[in-house]
This record gives sequence, structure tokens and C-alpha cells, in this order.
Amino acid sequence: RGSSEEPKIPFAEPGSMTRVYCVASGKGGVGKSSVTVNLAVAMAERGLSVGIVDADIYGHSVPRMLGAHGKPTRVEKMILPPAANGVKVISIAMFTPGNTPVVWRGPMLHRALQQFLADVFWGDLDVLLLDLPPGTGDIAISVAQLLPNAELLVVTTPQQAAAEVAERAGAIAMQTRQRIAGVIENMSWLELPDGSRMDLFGAGGGQRVATSLTKTIGADVPLLGQVPLDPRLREASDDGKPIVTSVPDSAAAQELTKIATKL
Ligand code: ADP
Repeated sequence: RGSSEEPKIPFAEPGSMTRVYCVASGKGGVGKSSVTVNLAVAMAERGLSVGIVDADIYGHSVPRMLGAHGKPTRVEKMILPPAANGVKVISIAMFTPGNTPVVWRGPMLHRALQQFLADVFWGDLDVLLLDLPPGTGDIAISVAQLLPNAELLVVTTPQQAAAEVAERAGAIAMQTRQRIAGVIENMSWLELPDGSRMDLFGAGGGQRVATSLTKTIGADVPLLGQVPLDPRLREASDDGKPIVTSVPDSAAAQELTKIATKL
């Protein structure tokens, strides 16, 4: 890192005004991408300039959830990212021919990520969110090398198993010396027609992860919020109309919007 042939990453420059958040989870399917997209759109709604790097090679669902159907275009040496719902996005899926699954290896992933950060024309971003693959693989390490100032957001469900894995992800982040901005619990409960809450996936996982990370790193890691289950969140994502704007009065949208204001 730092050799003169390495492309310059504006977000890693001293004095960069862009806040960078890596959204991580211990395993797939906990709603990491949904949370990333909704936080980004909530921030854009507030007038911030926001970009997402979809680095989740297994999921790469961000463009669809965001409703970004455009393709990146090339202008001289720069890549212009498509945008939707006020958010610019670049995805690893945009660079795999016919979206066929490609076996990406560590060095390729690192190179792709470097390009997303250095060669994409993001403009002056207030916030950049990176949707990381689940777990603690190569990408998380690459990100820490390329963006030492990035902060981590850990997404988990209330389930103990998910929480354990999320803890491990957090512990790795500590080794890479990234600050942990907080924990977001997703799929926290389902609200029943009578107003009561059903804990489909148990309870307390988010708080457990936050408490345990706080102990491990000796700095406060807050539980930033608990996002309930809502079938409309999934439907909205499938339609490319994130719930924070399409059903803003839902409890899930309000919680996500509240979390976004804390970042
Ligand atoms: P990950 O990025 O962790 O793999 P996704 O964001 O792709 O997870 O979410 C997995 C599935 O769960 C998607 O179909 C998504 O729409 C759905 N989902 C995520 N969060 C919620 C929620 N709070 N309520 C209902 N469905 C959700």
C-alpha cells in the first residue's frame, strides 16, 4: 500500500470529508443489503450525497433493491456509476458478463474493489456505504487496507447463532483496527394484527453483540436500532422501491430512518 503505482483512492486521502461505512454480517440472509440500501436512501432523502459499493459477490442484490437498472458508463478513464433513489451505486454484478456467477479470487476481488474506489467518478460524497460479503473473508481485509478510516456497521438478527458469527466479524474488524460504529438488529420481531410482537427469531441478539463488542474493544459499541420484520420491506426491495421512501410510515422504515440519522 502507498506505492506510487497504486491508484489514488480519494476516500482514503487525509482530509477526505466522506464518511465511509462498511456494512458487515456474520452470515448471509440477515438483511445486510436491505439495511445498506435503506440507510443510503434515508440519507439521500435528507439531502446527503450518498454512494454504495456493492462488494457482496454472493448476494450482489443492491442494484435491484435500489431500483438501479442502468449500467456504468465510461468517460475517458473514469467510470460513471448509475444512480437510483438519489443514490449512486457500483456493483460487482455490473462487471460479470451476463451476470454469470464468477469465481472471484482474493487478488481479483481486491483489484475490483480498488477500481470501484479509485476509478469510479463518485463526485463529492458525504457518505459511502460498502455492502460487504457475509463473514470475514478477503474483502473485509482488502477494505481495511484500502480504507483504513472506514467504520464498521454490524448487522445481525436476534438469533444467537447469527449473533455469534457477527461477533466474530467484529473481532476481525478490531484486528484490522476499524472503528465499529454500531450494531443493527434486523428481523427483530413481527407485529401481529392485535399490536403484539412475535419474536420469530428470538430476542436480544443485537444487544448481545453490541455488549460483547464493547467489552472486546474497550470502546462503546452501541445498538443503533432494531428493525422489525415487515413483508412490505421485502416487496419494496423486490420492486426497487426501498421501504424508507415507499412506505415511510411503517415501523421498519421509521427505525431505519432513525438509524440513518445516527450515522
Ligand atoms: P443479506 O444481504 O444479509 O444476505 P438481504 O438484505 O438480501 O440479506 O435480505 C434477505 C431477504 O430477507 C430478502 O428477501 C429481504 O427482502 C428480506 N428481508 C430483509 N430484512 C427484512 C425485514 N426486516 N422484513 C422482511 N423481510 C426482510
